[in-house]
Amino acid sequence: MKYVKNLKCTNCGQTYEAIPERYLCDTCGEKGILEVQYKYEKIKEDWNKEKLSQNNESSIWRYMPLLPIIETTQKPNLRIGHTPFYNSKKMAKKLGLKNLVIKDDGLNPTGSLKDRASAIAVVKAKEAGAKTASCSSTGNAASSLAGNVAAMESEMKAIIFVPKRAPAGKVAQLLVYGAEVVSVQDSYEETYYLSDRAIKKWGWYNRNAAINPYLVEGKKTAVLELAEQLNWDMPDWVVFSVGDGCTIAGAYKGFYDLEQIGFIKNIPKLLGVQAEGCAPITKSFKTGKKLEVTEENTIADSIAVGSPSNYKKALTAVKKSRGDMINVSDQDILKMIKNLGSTTGIFGEPAGVAGLAGLEKAVSLGIIKADDNVAAVITGNGLKDIDNARKATGDLIKIESDINKLEEIFYKKGVIDT
Ligand SMILES: *Cc1c(COP(=O)(O)O)cnc(C)c1O
Ligand SMILES: [Zn+2]
Repeated sequence: MKYVKNLKCTNCGQTYEAIPERYLCDTCGEKGILEVQYKYEKIKEDWNKEKLSQNNESSIWRYMPLLPIIETTQKPNLRIGHTPFYNSKKMAKKLGLKNLVIKDDGLNPTGSLKDRASAIAVVKAKEAGAKTASCSSTGNAASSLAGNVAAMESEMKAIIFVPKRAPAGKVAQLLVYGAEVVSVQDSYEETYYLSDRAIKKWGWYNRNAAINPYLVEGKKTAVLELAEQLNWDMPDWVVFSVGDGCTIAGAYKGFYDLEQIGFIKNIPKLLGVQAEGCAPITKSFKTGKKLEVTEENTIADSIAVGSPSNYKKALTAVKKSRGDMINVSDQDILKMIKNLGSTTGIFGEPAGVAGLAGLEKAVSLGIIKADDNVAAVITGNGLKDIDNARKATGDLIKIESDINKLEEIFYKKGVIDT
């Protein structure tokens, strides 16, 4: 923590000492989301790109000077981050772009970008001396917290609240990782309120991303990594799907930090993508009006957040980057699951590919130009939600073991020529 200056309220500017149990501003309450501030000058004195390139830690911990943890605190015994990126010519061509980089964050240990935040959460829980960490989540924050808690050497417990619509794959993960799972038979909003009350009542460590200022610092490692992978040469646009808004806010924070310490020259424009059936942040972005709570009507469960608690940070991030926001339909998302899989070999869950579906739309609307350089992050793995994956794909061939019938069908389908 030697580079952390303090926590600053994004609402009133008041600053606080960065202790693990500090979540919100005393004066502003729920509106007083805090942001970690760093001693950039000091980081610049002690750290540079060359030192980083000589560091052989291949996980988020290689960015230690920009992380709000004590270096020596015990960490989950998992490889968090260090996810691959691909220059996909085929997908670029399909979308009408010259250059497209796809970073597959579905390859994190529990299958989503959320591992980056959960790893920080369990380290902070450890620093706080907490034995139990808890959160409410549509699925991925939960499964990643459960997985990261399980990977701690010392005893720790995860108590997880999920809404009834959480996909079976994610719930299975929770149970396999040994969490106590509470399935709230209600919306995500109600799930969040119940978890909030329970966390306060029993004093557990709170991994609710919207209010815990340290989690965004974990999420930002996705772009610290991306920037390093791109050799600090920033694309014109970086694309993320948006639910609660913490991921895109984290992306901005990551680029901002890198700009402050001179690793990059400019912050790319951020394209935030929501699902049509649940797009309160896009609406507020477009109208300039206060956020209105909406229904949660989309198959992209990880971004179905009708009452996003972190929307202000997300709006600020997109605006400051001079970026834009766009919505996609469930149909667009399903199409992209198949499209991505069949052109790149990457399998994304609905919210995981929503960003890319939004990119396709943004190119067709001229928001993003053909010769813009673009990077898109796939945020979650497709194996988490196979029901929707099957909706996205065509039928397979069902047949008895009969080569003549097979030949007939192949011929009809055009699989073979004769
Ligand atoms: C959580 C999540 C998002 C969106 O992140 P927010 O911080 O809620 O905006 C996108 N995709 C996946 C797969 C996620 O799990
Ligand atoms: Zn405040």
